[in-house]
Parts: sequence; C-alpha cells; structure tokens
Amino acid sequence: MYRRLAKKVIVVTGAAGGIGALLAQTLAHQGAYVIAADLTKIPYNSAGISQHKLDVTSEADWIQLREWIKNRYGKLDGLVNNAGISNRDRLGTVCLGEWNQAFSVNCTGALLAIQTLSPLMSAGSSIVNIASIAAITGHYAVAYSSSKWALRGLSRAASLELGPKGIRVNTVMPGAIETPMTSNVPASVTDKLVGETPLGRLGQPEDITGLIVYLLSDESTFISGAEIPVDGGHTGHCGMKSVSDAMRVIGIE
Ligand code: NAD
Repeated sequence: MYRRLAKKVIVVTGAAGGIGALLAQTLAHQGAYVIAADLTKIPYNSAGISQHKLDVTSEADWIQLREWIKNRYGKLDGLVNNAGISNRDRLGTVCLGEWNQAFSVNCTGALLAIQTLSPLMSAGSSIVNIASIAAITGHYAVAYSSSKWALRGLSRAASLELGPKGIRVNTVMPGAIETPMTSNVPASVTDKLVGETPLGRLGQPEDITGLIVYLLSDESTFISGAEIPVDGGHTGHCGMKSVSDAMRVIGIE
C-alpha cells in the first residue's frame, strides 16, 4: 500500500488532545515515525508512535527531545506545532499572567520548537503551525487571538529564514472544531458560529488532518509561507453572511 509519509520522522505537539491525537495516528497510518509530545499522558498506543512528555514552553524539554531524535533517527522531516491553549478573557479583564501564558504556549512554544529542531531538518522538510481563524479576524478573546496572530508572524518569518535550506513553513487556521478545547462553548454560541459558516456545521478533527498530511508530504513541495483557513467558509465572506441571509429573508435573492 502506498503511504504518503513513508519513513518520515515527524513531531506533533499537543498530541494527547483533539486535533493532535487524531493527527498523530493519521500520520502513523501514512507511514511516518511519529513523535507524539504533550504535557499530559497520551491516551492511545499505536505502532509507529513514540510518546514523549514535553512542555512546549520549556527549552530544556525541547533540547532533551532533540537529543532523543538525534540518537534514534539522526534526522527530522516534519514538525507540527499544534499544542495550544484557549483563553476567552476580554480586553478589559485579561490579566497579565493569562496573557503571558497564552503567548507562551501558543507562540513561544513554536519558536522554541523551530529553533531547537530545525537544525535536524534538511531540504524537503516541512513545518506546520496550527494557528486559528482568530488570527485572521478581530476576536473578543484578546490574548488567544493576539497570540495566534503572533504565531502567524512567526510562521512567515520562519518560512523566509528556512526557505533557503529547502525547509517549508506553513500555517493552518482552523475554524470552530469539535474537540475538548471547545466542549464547554455554550450551545447559543455554537449556533451563532454555525450560522456564520456557509457549510452550515462545526468542523471535526478529520477536517483538519488531511491538509496537514498534504503539507507534510512531498505533494506540496512548492508551498511555503501559506496561511490556509479550514473553516467551512466562515472567514471567506468577511461578515457578509448575515447580510446575505437578511436579504434572502426579505425576498432579494
Ligand atoms: P485540545 O485542547 O483538545 O488539545 C490541545 C492539546 O495541547 C492538549 O492535549 C494539551 O494537553 C496540549 N497542551 C497544552 N499546553 C501544552 C504545553 N504547554 N505543552 C505541551 N502540550 C500542551 O485542543 P484542539 O482543539 O485539539 O486544538 C489544537 C490546536 O488547534 C490548538 O493550537 C488550538 O489553538 C487550535 N485551534 C483549535 C480550534 C478548535 O475549535 N478546536 C480552532 C482554532 C484553532
């Protein structure tokens, strides 16, 4: 059977959770040797996946992982900076500690990963950073949104810096996806999110993983510095869906 990521060595952070958990297993299914890293214990066991306890904000943890990869494989082909935390505080209430924590996990963690691991990468390698549509829009969750905008900037700088070495860096921007991160979003808010989504539903982790497989594979060798929303069209209409729906209600098609 043809495997799209055969023998590629790939690190996935946040691999215990929603998108990361499915991603790690999908990459292994596509023939990759997956290094699944998370703060918390990884709740599955599959062939081709090694499990690592790692805090993305800890430089020491990254150095330890780099040494392990160097000894075990001697190279790295892919890195997915997927670990992230949500923070829904608004401008008037967010405290400095929460602000710094959001930046630390959602952006600085990716910086440390890229700085520490990219020396193991060579031409053909691929880095994928998981931002959010909160990095396209103005979003009430100010620390989360700002930290994801910062991650978007980091991705672009990294694609510029690492391009000459043949290493690609791209950003994936999920819309609202059903995972543990969003499990406590009230139904009234979910309804609004779906209402803003032309495809008319929430996303699932499998809506995201296909694109990441593609970006890690040799099918996307000329794609770098790209920022790709996966959001059912949510950000595509720039707020015009409610206007369009209102026009339809009054009979103007
Ligand atoms: P999730 O909460 O289900 O999983 C996140 C994982 O990251 C968890 O396993 C958690 O333990 C891990 N993690 C958190 N802090 C960490 C740290 N310091 N070091 C290592 N691991 C850490 O979240 P998810 O919904 O699967 O989100 C994955 C990514 O997608 C995140 O970056 C998130 O911001 C982004 N995203 C999610 C949505 C959504 O609607 N679910 C939307 C846009 C973007």
